[in-house]
Amino acid sequence: MSHIENDPQFESLTVNNGVKQPPLVNPYLKIKKLPTFTVSDYVEGILKGDITFLSKAITMIESSKYEHQVVAQEILEKCLPYSGNSIRLGITGVPGAGKSTFIESLGKYVVGQNKKLAVLAIDPSSDLSKGSILGDKTRMSELSTEKNAFIRPSPSAGSLGGVARKTRETIFLCEAAGYETIFVETVGVGQSETAVHSMVDFFLLIQLAVTGDELQGIKRGIMEMAYGIIVNKADGNNIHKAKLAQAQFKNALRLFPKHESNWDAPVLLTSAIENTGVVEVWDMLQDYLKFVKENGYFIKRRTSQSSYWMYESINDQLKTSFYENEGVKAAMNEMIQKVYNNEISSFVAASNLLDIYFKKG
Ligand code: GDP
Repeated sequence: MSHIENDPQFESLTVNNGVKQPPLVNPYLKIKKLPTFTVSDYVEGILKGDITFLSKAITMIESSKYEHQVVAQEILEKCLPYSGNSIRLGITGVPGAGKSTFIESLGKYVVGQNKKLAVLAIDPSSDLSKGSILGDKTRMSELSTEKNAFIRPSPSAGSLGGVARKTRETIFLCEAAGYETIFVETVGVGQSETAVHSMVDFFLLIQLAVTGDELQGIKRGIMEMAYGIIVNKADGNNIHKAKLAQAQFKNALRLFPKHESNWDAPVLLTSAIENTGVVEVWDMLQDYLKFVKENGYFIKRRTSQSSYWMYESINDQLKTSFYENEGVKAAMNEMIQKVYNNEISSFVAASNLLDIYFKKG
């Protein structure tokens, strides 16, 4: 007698006709076509200071889609002649140092002078946490309601180099849109300071009132890069400690070699919450700009930043082109295995792959 489970119709490997796949989109839904804009529309909009066009163009700069990149680069190229006329201020400090409170305070002062201010950010952690801890509008609630303030969170996806390039290009677009002051904020925990340093005129380090041994914990490199240090939270019971920290920072700075610009980095006290010392930071920035414009360092620095970014861009494109090369991709696993098995050295494996790339292999 035949058992039902032996009937081919019910075997587990039999493929039966399933239910027809319903359409992914409701066929009755009328899709409104989004308006498409030309490069000239974008450029005209940006030059008029239209926030919508500016934001859309930045989104395209941040996009990883090739076709967006092409349009973004065209917009950028057309905006470049109108860029460069701003003060670019980099701001760093460990989480909790008071960056956003300080930016809100200084930012309100800047827009109060009838100047347009853009606040951008480079947040190396946002790719991991999938949420930006910098540049978030809710962090600067008062500044974000100001008509003349434009706050944009950090681009999230990609390598630090990629994120930094996008922020740098965003600076140019903001300048073309008439923003005379640009703040670029970053967290003082990783490599991102170097990236910010390479795109701003002045690099400001926000410190807490740490003294003695705690001072040793601060990365030398970051202090060396700073053109000015502020000891924040110099208020209430903290004032004495802040003054002590100020003196120790001043001493520590003396041990560093002089800046290429010949500028001596001042150490100032602020209370971002009580709004004290903040105008002095702005004045320090003006003093610095006057100093480096007179001694020629301002132009020198901007020029060397441009060449730095040209090299970065070459490195970036070469790297992408190498890893996306079909021959390289095909041989990569085999080479890695050989290296793991100690059959060839990593150096030889790398040369073999490079030979394939340069079509010598
Ligand atoms: P960020 O992580 O560096 O952006 O730091 P926040 O601006 O978010 O500030 C961290 C905490 O320090 C918040 O609770 C602020 O209210 C507080 N804070 C910021 N600036 C000051 C200040 O000048 N004085 C005091 N007492 N607290 C401050």
